[in-house]
Amino acid sequence: MRLGTYRIGLMFQNANSGRRRRRRQTFASYSRSLFWRKLFYRRRYARRVLSLVPVGELDLLAANSRDDASEEIKGTITRGLEAFFLGMNVDWMTAADSTVSFRDIRCTKRTHSRTGRVQYLVGDVLAHLKSIIPSRSFCLVGVTIEDLFPSHEWNFVFGHALPGDLTGVVSVARYANKESNDSDLIVSFSNLLWRLFKVLTHEICHLFGLKHCRMFPCAMNESRNLEEAISQPLFLCPVCLRKLHHALEFSLLHRYQALFEFISSIVETFDDEDILICTGTTELESPPTENTVEAPGYGKRRFFESLAWLKSTIDKIENK
Ligand SMILES: [Zn+2]
Ligand SMILES: [Zn+2]
Repeated sequence: MRLGTYRIGLMFQNANSGRRRRRRQTFASYSRSLFWRKLFYRRRYARRVLSLVPVGELDLLAANSRDDASEEIKGTITRGLEAFFLGMNVDWMTAADSTVSFRDIRCTKRTHSRTGRVQYLVGDVLAHLKSIIPSRSFCLVGVTIEDLFPSHEWNFVFGHALPGDLTGVVSVARYANKESNDSDLIVSFSNLLWRLFKVLTHEICHLFGLKHCRMFPCAMNESRNLEEAISQPLFLCPVCLRKLHHALEFSLLHRYQALFEFISSIVETFDDEDILICTGTTELESPPTENTVEAPGYGKRRFFESLAWLKSTIDKIENK
């Protein structure tokens, strides 16, 4: 049974041509759908583990400047997701559990007509993830630095979720130079964390049955391009937060405090001069200007803004 698919990406010809008219998902409609989802997936909903798995060579992130970057990013993402989805444990599948290589799963690929970049078909990845989803897990989400496409009329996707199969996959390939014709990843550490954390939380919310939000600026807004995807808020709007709260039944105050502790701990790791992680020798021809989403300090600034918002929210809840 398929309960819909969700993707963030770009159509080839006309970015609006694929924008189908869908009704808003109100809290009442979400609550009804969650009732049926919990009935249908009762075993999965009883499991409190979100599993992640690298798809392809995620270790490429560790090349050059930071040998420990890949493990550091995984650990940071784990702590962040455990705060965002408070009550869930996050678990990275290891090589001992299962490995996912595009070649082994015979993933359909194509060469992008404009960039010349190799892209992989998300449907093949998700079908494989469905076959290896651990029995202890609620869902399984793949993370890759390779470029993905969902069907031939689509240019690319940042992420794709199948709530009916409880699988998803996210790619950070487009979070480098968006028009780059090579696969080198050049991005500041804080930007990578910001982008990866946002796309993961967005896709995992889909797996809990949340649809795109059209009510407020929200982490569940639909995005059609890199700038929209990166600039959306880190947090859920009141309606979407109520939905996630209904699914996970966490304490709102404890969740805000966990997110505050998480972001406090990571902003301390951002150096004054943001560290660049490079997978190759390519250098930026002209550094992005300070106000764009691609500026090296963009992620750091957004994390600091998020921290200030959380502090003020927690103070108000505690009536300080
Ligand atoms: Zn989405
Ligand atoms: Zn929302």
